[in-house]
Amino acid sequence: MKQKLNRAILTTLFFFFSNLVLTGQLLQAQNIVIKAGHLFDSRTGKMLNDQTIIIKNDKIQEVGSNLKYKITDTVIDLSQSWVLPGLMDCHVHITFNFSYGNPSYVQLYTTESSSLRALRGAYVAEQFLMSGFTTIKEIGNDANYATADIIKAIKNGWTKGPAIFYAGKIIAPYGGQTSGVNIENEHLWNFEYIDADNPDEIKKAIRKNIYYGANVIKLVSGQQAGYYDLEDIKAAVDEAKKSGLKVTVHVQGGTAARNVILGGAAAIEHGFELDNDLLRLMKEKGTFLVGTDVGYDSNISWGLDSSLAKSEEKRTIDRLKRAYKIGTKMAYGTDLVIDEPGLNRIQTSLKVLKTWKAAEIPSSYVLQTMTIYAAELLGIEKSKGVLEQSYLADIIALKNNPLEDIESVKNVHFVMKEGKVIKQD
Ligand SMILES: [Zn+2]
Repeated sequence: MKQKLNRAILTTLFFFFSNLVLTGQLLQAQNIVIKAGHLFDSRTGKMLNDQTIIIKNDKIQEVGSNLKYKITDTVIDLSQSWVLPGLMDCHVHITFNFSYGNPSYVQLYTTESSSLRALRGAYVAEQFLMSGFTTIKEIGNDANYATADIIKAIKNGWTKGPAIFYAGKIIAPYGGQTSGVNIENEHLWNFEYIDADNPDEIKKAIRKNIYYGANVIKLVSGQQAGYYDLEDIKAAVDEAKKSGLKVTVHVQGGTAARNVILGGAAAIEHGFELDNDLLRLMKEKGTFLVGTDVGYDSNISWGLDSSLAKSEEKRTIDRLKRAYKIGTKMAYGTDLVIDEPGLNRIQTSLKVLKTWKAAEIPSSYVLQTMTIYAAELLGIEKSKGVLEQSYLADIIALKNNPLEDIESVKNVHFVMKEGKVIKQD
């Protein structure tokens, strides 16, 4: 009798636990379903209404209207929201911070340690993610490869952050972007730059950056110590290509920019002095412009006086207008390294949208530069930048229509990165 009872108990327990395992499997197999009131189709630049997105693990399984899903799936109601692919900023410096009104490379290098810079970088990376940027391109000036460790910390789950494209140290003609450093402190800039003054030195610098984790190559040309020749740029592009990487160059205009375009670089960063001929040449060669179109307030934060801040802003708006009219490919990039009073780094960065508005660029196009075009520049156009089947589930939502006012992207209330909900207000 006792034996029978034991068997009965054991059998009950067996079914109880196998049911638990089964429930666990069911839970794991659950999909996430997003009911999107409005969904931005980044291919066409149009909003689609009443869409359903079904997400399995880290990818989008299906998108459409009236899709069927399982009763056990987790439903997220964004029926009152505007749903977009995760945003991308193609020009950031997360570890970098200049004093307001008084930027000085030398001061930064001598007063902040690489560990402090890494901590700032992790903090800013999380702010980017929470503000809807699921991918960023960190483009150098990052304190002796500090970002390489931030990327590891994010992968380990120690801190939250977007997917980071990473340039390592900036490769530049002797002296980087510094000036006036005395001979006793000659190599102060080597925490941030690699001096490379011919094709062989450029190749070596690229190999070093790749060794320490770079997956995009950044050069500076046309600063203090002169600019790179066509052969230099070609050498950089060839060397990077061997590892499947792209080259991007900080350059303003003139012969330096022409060499960058003809040398086959993927993008020009800044390009504030590009004339129409160069913008047309970029269109012809498929070179992206990452315009970093900062406006008046940012110019003031760099210590410019009011009239110079205004004229620089005017020049940037004009260049942006011409690039759009000519049809030069563009990807969104901000380049903010000074936080404005009362604003965090991302709130400061998003002020560039005012410049895009002043240049009368349609909101749908601006959103495309932040999604599908940025993905093309970064070489991830098959996995990110649009909300379609088999793409990674990097999804954000806004309370207001960004096509009516592009500055609506300042208020992101939902963030999903690779199928995981990061923020839901
Ligand atoms: Zn920059």
